[in-house]
Amino acid sequence: MSNVLTKLPTSNVSPRLAVIGGGISGLTAAYRLRQWLPRAEIELFEAGDRLGGVLHTRRDQGLLIECGADSFFNQLPAAVELCQELGLGEEIIPTNEEPRRALILHAGKLHRVPEGFVQMRPEKVGPMLRTRLLSWRGKLRLLAERWATSPTELANEDFDESVASFATRRLGREVFERMVQPLLAGVYTADPYRLSVAATMPTAFEAERKYGSLIAKVMADRKQASRDSGARYGSFVTLRNGMAQLIDTLVSQLNDVKIHLNTPIKNLTPTADQRWSVSQASGNETLVDGVIVALPAPRAGALLASTDAELSNKLQNIAYASSAVAVLVYRREQISDPLDGFGMVVPTVEGRQIVAASYSSVKFPGRAPADQVLIRVFVGGALQPELLERSDAEIVQLAQAELSDILGIRGEPLRAELVRWNEKMPQYHVGHLQLVDRIEDLVSKHVGLELAGNAYRGVGIPQCVQQANSAARRLAESFDLPSPSEG
Ligand SMILES: Cc1cc2nc3c(=O)[nH]c(=O)nc-3n(C[C@H](O)[C@H](O)[C@H](O)COP(=O)(O)OP(=O)(O)OC[C@H]3O[C@@H](n4cnc5c(N)ncnc54)[C@H](O)[C@@H]3O)c2cc1C
Repeated sequence: MSNVLTKLPTSNVSPRLAVIGGGISGLTAAYRLRQWLPRAEIELFEAGDRLGGVLHTRRDQGLLIECGADSFFNQLPAAVELCQELGLGEEIIPTNEEPRRALILHAGKLHRVPEGFVQMRPEKVGPMLRTRLLSWRGKLRLLAERWATSPTELANEDFDESVASFATRRLGREVFERMVQPLLAGVYTADPYRLSVAATMPTAFEAERKYGSLIAKVMADRKQASRDSGARYGSFVTLRNGMAQLIDTLVSQLNDVKIHLNTPIKNLTPTADQRWSVSQASGNETLVDGVIVALPAPRAGALLASTDAELSNKLQNIAYASSAVAVLVYRREQISDPLDGFGMVVPTVEGRQIVAASYSSVKFPGRAPADQVLIRVFVGGALQPELLERSDAEIVQLAQAELSDILGIRGEPLRAELVRWNEKMPQYHVGHLQLVDRIEDLVSKHVGLELAGNAYRGVGIPQCVQQANSAARRLAESFDLPSPSEG
């Protein structure tokens, strides 16, 4: 999509524009506006003291520590294309060849995710039958997926249900509890009883609608499926010097976009002459012709409270979960586990206090000195928010204790620290797609206003880049930029 976008002719008009939020969404939006409206006066407002939002890399003593996001999916092209445009194509690196797999904790032991279990679809029967993650009863129930009945409401285009409901009725409770729940929690840190299957697992959802069952869909495109299977963990890439390399390069190419750090925006209101008043918490005001709001949805909603009550309420209805990442570094010899994967996810039914752990230095090269292991442990999320009320030291301590028990670690870590991400992960609850349709409808009634960010149509970095591209394109086109068909 961005290929099409970058071919758009640039325009000579010189509007005054604002972007609110300096995460990957806001920075991408500002970059595109600069590209397509080179004469525009653009200002970017960021509440914090640094740019990048959830993308934050620290380097220290031979370690490359990703505090937040550490990689992105390369099968959705927007993020890869952005990197290439920025001259970072050669800097994109894949995960290490071995051991390209994820592990799931079951009864205190780590097991490989059966090969071919992708997006809830069991693409290979053999590995599903051999796995020790499931009992024979669970395996038979999984095979019976072919004959599980579908609810009559499925025919309704707007039908949605929770991931828990969908996975349990199609694949059985064991597969849901031992595989689907932890794998999804590793991405969304979500409550599967509230998470929308239509918004988060559209491929599986559509498979039932079109083919009557997930297994029938696998059989229908077996050729394609066998080509794709196992490739999933090879589809995550990062930048040699970490996600900060993307942020730093993007910022360096914003040219004369005026960046205001430590500048939280409090209000966004339309003026009588069809402009927007952007009010800072300090009371300063900037008048602009167009604005892209790239904030977590509840913050965006708060800014628009006096502009559009329904839009503001709908935005504030999108819930967010918090999490914390305990960064632990050990000498390799302290760990008896073979670390036979890129990390583990921990099912709720295991009764543990961690959601997942990513073995960063096993996953990507150059993350730690050769004799050390860097592990990031995820705590909290929608299912255990109470753990985040504890102090940093207590959370690090519990992460350390869980990890030592599971991986057989002896002694204290060489380094241990905590990063908190408060209200950073949107929760796409049942009905999310209809909610977003309505939000987009309401936004379209306000000339010069656009939204971008992870709250709407995908939380991953490629989806954020793509949504920012689209928001910038709509805004640029509203200032007479010729449409692609004219260009
Ligand atoms: C811990 C964690 C790990 C993740 N890992 C991955 C991963 O590996 N791969 C992947 O693809 N995705 C990952 N994600 C998801 C992805 O990183 C995020 O969805 C994405 O980075 C969000 O970017 P954003 O710009 O929309 O929002 P944010 O990064 O949240 O940026 C919003 C910015 O707005 C600023 N702001 C807030 N209020 C105001 C205000 N009033 N005025 C001005 N500025 C304001 C904030 O300070 C922030 O800088 C992860 C998410 C989390 C939380």
